[in-house]
Order: sequence, then structure tokens, then C-alpha cells
Amino acid sequence: MILGMTTSVPDIDDADLLDLTQQLVRLRTVNTGAGVVEQPAADLVAQLMTSYGWQVTISEVAPGRPNVVGVVHGRGPGRTLMFEGHTDVVTEGDPDGWSFDPYSGDVVDGKLLGRGSADMKAGVAAMIHAARAVELGGFDGRIVVAALADEEGMMLGAKHFADAYRAAGGLDGAPIDAVIVCEPEGGELCTVAKGAVRARIDVHGVMAHGAMPHHGRNPLPAIGEILVGIGALEQELQENPGPHPHLGLTSITPTVLDAGQPAQVNVIPAVASVYLDIRTIPGIDHAELIDVLTALAETVAAARDLTATLEVIDDRPVVDTAEDDPVVLALRRAHEEVTGAPPPFGGVPGTTDGTILTRDAGLVTVVYGPGGKWIAHQVDEFVEVDDLVACARVYAATARHFLAAS
Ligand SMILES: [Zn+2]
Repeated sequence: MILGMTTSVPDIDDADLLDLTQQLVRLRTVNTGAGVVEQPAADLVAQLMTSYGWQVTISEVAPGRPNVVGVVHGRGPGRTLMFEGHTDVVTEGDPDGWSFDPYSGDVVDGKLLGRGSADMKAGVAAMIHAARAVELGGFDGRIVVAALADEEGMMLGAKHFADAYRAAGGLDGAPIDAVIVCEPEGGELCTVAKGAVRARIDVHGVMAHGAMPHHGRNPLPAIGEILVGIGALEQELQENPGPHPHLGLTSITPTVLDAGQPAQVNVIPAVASVYLDIRTIPGIDHAELIDVLTALAETVAAARDLTATLEVIDDRPVVDTAEDDPVVLALRRAHEEVTGAPPPFGGVPGTTDGTILTRDAGLVTVVYGPGGKWIAHQVDEFVEVDDLVACARVYAATARHFLAAS
């Protein structure tokens, strides 16, 4: 790690930063989808922010599942920069599959070990200590540090924050100018994230005895034909507009087939369904794509004297932040100051809380954070300590640049 020699990289207390990350990893805040999840991590973070004298708001998005939002006020007016992270983690799975205790939080050979170390307690600790360092150095404007709940589930925390922001027309009466989502991206500056649509196609027929198929209308062959049509549509979209440089290709993936009950070999089912996981790149219009898929299903069904419907279960847009947005320029400069080289640009294949903050609150979001891109959700998760401390410095320098340009 090469530390920047300019004054724009504030001092970070590495021992405190490491200690906070370890404490957070040792709290088992596994998102089970129900019950108390983030509370212990939220308490720890809120207590620390309060000890700094920050304005801290705790809002429960579900029982035992609080969002913690700290606001750090500068000396004078200026822009607002928000750092965002989540305090929940995915399950460790079978602990016997790990080569160490999944919640050890120990540092071995320069690596901090444990579930949530990369995704993303390192990011949460880094953003807090970065904001603290900038505060101690003095700045204008506001820094918002948001540790939200349920990113690994339905993103209830981000939805709650975005809804409140939109309803109030800002945060405490002023807009947030940009958000850095502190997810692990292995040093990449991710200005783009794929869009996602989850949908279900139902084909309705008539139930009958398998020995007398002419008394029924079987939806299953229609599902087969619809799947062939979807394959052709996917290929078309992969050829035009072709791959995005950081996101690759659009995909339409059938993930679940369901022919309902009784699921009996001698019964033609009344309804058959296919679930689709659709991932899109910039330039693909979701509404248009949904119309094309609906028409495909309806046409295939009608030719067989059946009916078809398509239901959108979830619709998350593409995030496509301009590479010359002030927050991107500030991050680039900071990354280069701290590491000695400009950051590679990248893309997020899934969706993050940033997707929700962009969709529901219209906020500018980028994703950049400590930890390997592919280590999230795997066994033997870790974050490099060097990466953690470098990233905290990049965050602090970014805030300096972004807020100085107010
Ligand atoms: Zn994450």
C-alpha cells in the first residue's frame, strides 16, 4: 500500500478501524428473514456515532431491525455526501465447510476472517472512521453515514430510507448530492449496476384425466414453446445492443417451473407457470421488454386455445451513473492518491441498496468498497487488512474533494 503524501488524505486510526471491523464481524447478524437480525451491530454503530457527537437517527424497519443514520455537520454550508452500508450478513451455511470459525474476526496473515468481513462490515467500519477523520480535519457541508438493514433480504432498510427521503423532499430539508455504496468491489469503481426483473408467466388450461386428454387443455406444451421463444428473444437482445463493457450481456433465465397441484402423472394440470430472472444492461427498456414477453406468452397460448398472463414480481432499474459525475471524479482522484494508480471502472452484476436509493429516491449512487468482489457469500470469507485501511483513506479523501468543490 502506498499512502498518499498529500494533505487531502486525512489520518485514520488504523487500530480503531480494525477493532471496529472485528467487533462487527463477531456479531452474528445473519439475515434469516425474520426476527432480530441487525440489532447488535446497529447498537454498536449507533453508540460509536453518538460518542462522536453526531446527529444519530435510529428507525426500526421491522422489530429488531434498525436503520442507523448518522449526520456529521461541517463548519459551513455545502454539498452532502452519503456513505451507505448494510449491517446484515448471509448465513455461514455449514460451519464444517469453513477452515476457521465463521465469526472469529481474527486477523491471520494480514487477513481479517469471518462471515460479513468483506460483505460488508469492513465497508461499514471504513465509512465511519473515514467520516470521523474528515470531521476532525474540518470540512464544509454534510456527511451522512447510513448503516441500513436487510440488504441481503428485501432491502427493507434502503426502501425505508428512500421512502422517507422522498416524502420529506430531502434529508433535514436538504438534498443528498451523491451516495457511495461501500460494498466489496475489489478496488473497482462501479458506476453501473445491472437492472433486474422478476416475473411469472401463468398459462391457464383445463384439468383432465391423462387417459382422456381431449377432455382437457394442457398448459405444459405451451410452456415449452414459450421457453423456446424466450431463448430466441434473449439471443436477440444479446446480439443487439450486445455486451456492455462493464456489465456483459442481458439475460432472461427461467429459474422455476411449476405445474401446480396435484402434480400427479395421470392428471393434466389446470395451470402451469414459469418464473423468470431477467438481468438487463443500460439501453434495455424494462416496460418494453415486459410487453414483448407478455405478447409472446399470449400468442403461444391463444394458438393452443389457452390463456396466458405475466405478472411482474419485482422491477429494479439499471444504475448508470455518469463517469464524469462529481462523486466519480472525487473517488478516482482519491483512489489514485492513496494507491498510486487510477481505479479500474467496473460494474455490479447484481443489485445493491444503491439500486433502491436510485430507483425510489432518485439519488446518484456509485459502488466502491473493501474486499474481493467474488468472496461475498462464500465460505472462508475474508478481507485484507491493507485493503480495509486503504479504502477508509480513499473514502476520507473522496469526501474532502467532493465537499471542497461545494
Ligand atoms: Zn453486501
